Amino acid sequence: MTDIFDNLILCNKCKKEMKKIKLEKNGFFIRAVECPKCKDRILHPNDELEYNKFIKLRNKTFRVKMRIVGNSYAVSIPKEIVNFIKEQEKIMDNMVRLCFNDSRKLSLMFGEVEK
Ligand SMILES: [Zn+2]
Repeated sequence: MTDIFDNLILCNKCKKEMKKIKLEKNGFFIRAVECPKCKDRILHPNDELEYNKFIKLRNKTFRVKMRIVGNSYAVSIPKEIVNFIKEQEKIMDNMVRLCFNDSRKLSLMFGEVEK
């Protein structure tokens, strides 16, 4: 199946060929095409859908319990978050980086840092 962006896309107003660009929104990459004349943009429909899913998940607070596992504590990461990240192919293996940002906040980093 061909991707919609592999086709020639013309700007509706200018009739000019739109150029492929990559937008970054909140650490999220969205493929888009842009008209070189009027700068009108069309987002890739799949990426836009994924981005909207991300917006729904973002800043959602989950209440999870801490459990003792050996000498450590474990918390469960909600499946919807892990599934989302997996879809984004940001999990290569099951390793995550954990950082104690401030006295009440812990963050997890999935995948490699984007350059
Ligand atoms: Zn245009």
